[in-house]
Amino acid sequence: MSDDDEHIETRAIHAGQEPDEETGALMTPIFANSTYVQDGPGDHRGYEYSRTGNPTRTDLEDNLASLEGAEYGRAFSSGMGAINTVLNLLEAGDHVVAGDDVYGGTHRIFTQVYEDYDVDFDFVDTTDHDEVRSAMRESTELVWVETPTNPLMNVNDIGALADIAHEHDALCAVDNTFATPYLQRPIEHGADVVCHSLTKYLGGHSDLVAGALITDDEDIDEQLGFYQNSVGATPSPFDCFLVLRGTKSLSVRMDRHCENASELAHWLDDHDSVDTVYYPGLESHPHHDLAAEQMDDFGGMLSFELDASLDEASEFVSETEVFTLAESLGGVESLIEQPAAMTHAAIPKAEREAAGLTDPLIRASVGIENVDDLKADLQQAMDAALD
Ligand SMILES: *Cc1c(COP(=O)(O)O)cnc(C)c1O
Repeated sequence: MSDDDEHIETRAIHAGQEPDEETGALMTPIFANSTYVQDGPGDHRGYEYSRTGNPTRTDLEDNLASLEGAEYGRAFSSGMGAINTVLNLLEAGDHVVAGDDVYGGTHRIFTQVYEDYDVDFDFVDTTDHDEVRSAMRESTELVWVETPTNPLMNVNDIGALADIAHEHDALCAVDNTFATPYLQRPIEHGADVVCHSLTKYLGGHSDLVAGALITDDEDIDEQLGFYQNSVGATPSPFDCFLVLRGTKSLSVRMDRHCENASELAHWLDDHDSVDTVYYPGLESHPHHDLAAEQMDDFGGMLSFELDASLDEASEFVSETEVFTLAESLGGVESLIEQPAAMTHAAIPKAEREAAGLTDPLIRASVGIENVDDLKADLQQAMDAALD
């Protein structure tokens, strides 16, 4: 296991992982076991049953905890499985304050699953701390934060929101999927629980679905572990192995994602066919200073509004060749999508427009290809789609 004093690039490769004691195998083996031998009833060697614990998963959980600068990690079969497990900490009658631009699946599980269990949710502009304060109630047990948000890349102040939560004896959970611990470590800013869709940058290769929760609080970890085992949304050892392989290259991938996204954001910002570019690395971004303070770099996600109609924008995303038209994000390959027609199509048009999600808004997950090829691709798609 690596030392906590080592830099994140080193911990990404070594934390939680030792060569296999028996064979010397350098990589964590895929422990494809449901069960483990006991030397006498109850006398096991640390593992009894793989829903409860699996050595490949343990290495991943320790690796992720180290990346977030925390003590405890728990892995799940999806980001939603992880989010569900945070909600398992609540009881009927509890209240949650969340951002009004949280991930669609998060909004869905809050309103279409947990409201049926009598948990109440308020969705507010989490960049407006007065609005957050006035939404807090006696029964508020959780403040749910995402930053940067999807798709307009709003940046929320984790430290300020954690303070508001704690003033009301509520927990602050941060979905750190977009930034990754390479760029932002919410626990350093006071968050109690960090949530990840490992499907995105941490896996990094668009070849798995998994999730994680990380905390520095032993009691919270124990409760999360109880629900992890009781509910059973645990990842397969093979998926754990794939994420471990992904985290080894996190630093070099993120450096390139950030570099490419920044260059594209500036190029788009100067482009005649583009109205607004949403990227926290642009000085014109309303939360640029906060992002510069809270994050080590500005990430690989950006959005921009084409000077185009809904149909022209649809044509544009269909014409790209290096950028693949697809939902999801965070893989090495560049993806592009049109929120109004895809990820956010379920939101009624008037509500969508009020939230700034206009028809010609385009979201890109900028990959690690050569940036000149990415620019050329966007340009040829504009030439083909726009008059
Ligand atoms: C994808 C995503 C999730 C859900 O994760 P899955 O792995 O798809 O279940 C949650 N939050 C954010 C910000 C995401 O991008």
